[in-house]
Amino acid sequence: MAQENRPTVSLVVPCYNEEPMLPLFYKEAARVLDSMASLPEPATGEIILVDDGSKDNTCKVMRELSAADSRVHYISFSRNFGKEAGMLAGLREAQGEYIVLLDADLQHPPAMIPEMLADIRTGEYDCIGTLRTRKGDAPLRTFFARNFYKVMSKLTNIEMIDGAGDFRMMTRQYVEACISLNERNRFSKGIFPWVGFKTKWIKFENVERAAGITKWSFWGLFLYSLDGITAFSSKLLAVASILGFLFFLGSIGLIIFIIIHRLIVGTSNFEGWASLICVVLFCSGIQLLATGILGQYLAKAYTEVKQRPHYIIKEQK
Ligand code: UDP
Ligand code: MG
Repeated sequence: MAQENRPTVSLVVPCYNEEPMLPLFYKEAARVLDSMASLPEPATGEIILVDDGSKDNTCKVMRELSAADSRVHYISFSRNFGKEAGMLAGLREAQGEYIVLLDADLQHPPAMIPEMLADIRTGEYDCIGTLRTRKGDAPLRTFFARNFYKVMSKLTNIEMIDGAGDFRMMTRQYVEACISLNERNRFSKGIFPWVGFKTKWIKFENVERAAGITKWSFWGLFLYSLDGITAFSSKLLAVASILGFLFFLGSIGLIIFIIIHRLIVGTSNFEGWASLICVVLFCSGIQLLATGILGQYLAKAYTEVKQRPHYIIKEQK
């Protein structure tokens, strides 16, 4: 795969409605790339901007940036396909020897790239990952995030680390492994640990978004977690089966109890209505839950078998 004029580093940046943010991002990224030319072992770079169907003028800004600087390339989607699709498109397009994934909002500081490059150039690691502290996050969000990673790691047997984001520098080999997982329901937080290789973790302080607003609502994050669990584990199905089995055992026990009670006491005038309704409601609730879990997996299988492309490109340069 040796290609002569590969840039050393490709920055892959998914962008959704980042019009106010992009010029700031570009300024900082270009500054860092320029500074890397004077490293003891000089490095070159390219920037791949992916417009994920933005509703504002993100694409126009990209066109201008790309016209002004030949290191800047962009891909624009026909509509919003989600950040996972944006990252995939950028990773597929990146030519660099090393590839960095980062957000456009400067919450992933480009200034860390030279340090990551020095680490990965030692050849000891295939990926330099970052762990962000949760300073400044809402307490409820932090609580859910923490527990989500715990549950996830248990369910999937893949170690997912709290605070480990998409911001990372990877070798080509690592990126090609990630791209080779061709599923429609992409969940990077699971894909990265799944492909294996050796990752070095470095910590960084949480930074506030510099402009624009976050695209994640609490509900959106909740659904995303559910996606992650169903994409990487079928253990929820086992939970449904086990619950069903327990309730079956319980009902057998009850039946036996009532028969014996009838034989010994003679009558069975339990004040039954209220408790009966409770049991019926409870059991049908469990059944619905189990059916719902089943449905989640079925829906996933449905989108996979359709084999639709992950995204549709409208414009590219
Ligand atoms: N993003 C995207 N598509 C989407 C939502 C977000 O490409 O549908 C990009 C967004 O432009 C940003 C990154 O993903 O570069 C992270 O988004 P955001 O900052 O809103 O998330 P947070 O940092 O709050 O997790
Ligand atoms: Mg952000």
